[in-house]
Amino acid sequence: MRRMLWFRRDLRIENNPLLSLEGEVLPIFIFDTNILEKLSANDRRIGFIFNALIRLKTALQERGLDLAIFYGKPIDVFTLLLKQESFHEVCASGDYDSYARKRDRDVSLLLPFNYLNDTYIFKPDEVLKNNGTPYLVFTPFYNRAKTLFRPEHMAESLPAKQTRIDFDCSVIHSIDRNKHTILPITLEAIGFFPQPLSEHQTLSPEEKLARFEHKLENYQRDRDFMALNATSLLGIDLRFGTISIRALLRWLMVQKQKGVDTEPFFRQLIFREFYAMLLYHFPHLEWKNFRYPFRGIENHEFYEAFCTGNTGIPIIDAGIRQLLESGEMHNRVRMICASFFTKNLLLPWQWGERFFAEHLMDYDAASNILSWQWCAGTGIDPQPYFRIFNPYIQSAKFDKNGLYTKTYLPEVRDIPTKFLSDEKSLINYPIQGYSHPIVNHKSSSTRALDYFKSELSKC
Ligand code: FAD
Repeated sequence: MRRMLWFRRDLRIENNPLLSLEGEVLPIFIFDTNILEKLSANDRRIGFIFNALIRLKTALQERGLDLAIFYGKPIDVFTLLLKQESFHEVCASGDYDSYARKRDRDVSLLLPFNYLNDTYIFKPDEVLKNNGTPYLVFTPFYNRAKTLFRPEHMAESLPAKQTRIDFDCSVIHSIDRNKHTILPITLEAIGFFPQPLSEHQTLSPEEKLARFEHKLENYQRDRDFMALNATSLLGIDLRFGTISIRALLRWLMVQKQKGVDTEPFFRQLIFREFYAMLLYHFPHLEWKNFRYPFRGIENHEFYEAFCTGNTGIPIIDAGIRQLLESGEMHNRVRMICASFFTKNLLLPWQWGERFFAEHLMDYDAASNILSWQWCAGTGIDPQPYFRIFNPYIQSAKFDKNGLYTKTYLPEVRDIPTKFLSDEKSLINYPIQGYSHPIVNHKSSSTRALDYFKSELSKC
């Protein structure tokens, strides 16, 4: 067998089913210009991918293989490669958003496509209702997933005997239709620049797990408190496959055997599965509402204030500044911001989803789109559309000492902490150099509820 091994969301050699396939192989990675063309030259994710590729390439070389790197549209890359070499198949792990599925369909018209299941614990049609249809509600999905979960879902992929197909892997092959040029293997050669990384962004998944091990026990208790840094920070590793979900599950099993309650963390991993499954079965959710018909109201002034972290509501602005500064945002803050965006500001959730997509290091289409829909209250269980987070109460509860807010929002560093969660004080005693709140919580909530009611009455 002569196989192309196409690395995409699995940038590692450990536990990688691509390396369990015997025969002659050409491991490849494509910097897809369909995606890259839309990104800024400072996009942090490309730097992350680039570093992961270099590690992957070195690890493959240690096995007597190598990684051929391409820059171009996948269809052009495959067309050109197939003119030069013959292959029996291309093998790759599942990738389920609509762009990825169309890309893979197009490639499968050129040569047989062997689709592997590495990215998620379950295959997209594995956790279904008894009548064979997809679950629309998380809790029953979760319960079913638990009953279906078997040791095979954590199975290790053992490396097979593979031999290298001769190919020049010392450069980046840039392919534009029929035009083939050679680039050095640098980030700059493909139009991107390295970005400064925070301390934990430089950690390997193994190092992150070693730190998280001490926190797992209290994950459920602490995970919502943004200043505690109580979560795994593995989002980006799961996104690009620098950690194997199965290796993570085996690690979790070891913790369970030590007597740690691993269920709350496992539940979050199943959320990731649920959202991937939903987007797979209902690709239109990428832009269409799950159930209710709310469209939101386009207001560019509100949007601008939100996206620059200048709403005058400290917890929101701190979250956005964290995102702009580091490409990260704590889960609870993502929820507070998305609720504020879609309810208090009544902006279309699709705008917020795109803004997060531009900046989040761990951006994942399924998790981001469905989380935004959840926050917007478009009908995804269990968030009813009429529930509106009060950002001040959230701030008082989950950032009581103001540590998180003051870290990312220098304008409020010197004010008394209790002001951060006190709307009246923020309105009555303007802070020098900091915005006045752009909406009042109560009146903007009432406006949102009236809007939702009137939209529903039109159905
Ligand atoms: P941990 O708490 O350590 O969780 C471990 C892993 O479980 C995460 O890495 C992630 O893969 C998964 N997970 C945890 N919570 C969720 C969740 N609510 N939904 C789906 N998967 C979850 N997550 C993304 O991976 N990519 C996104 O683009 C994304 N966008 C979001 C947008 C909004 C508006 C909201 C409210 C949430 C979004 N999430 C997204 C979910 C969640 O915020 C992140 O997965 C989490 O903050 C990542 O940090 P962590 O790795 O420390 O998570």
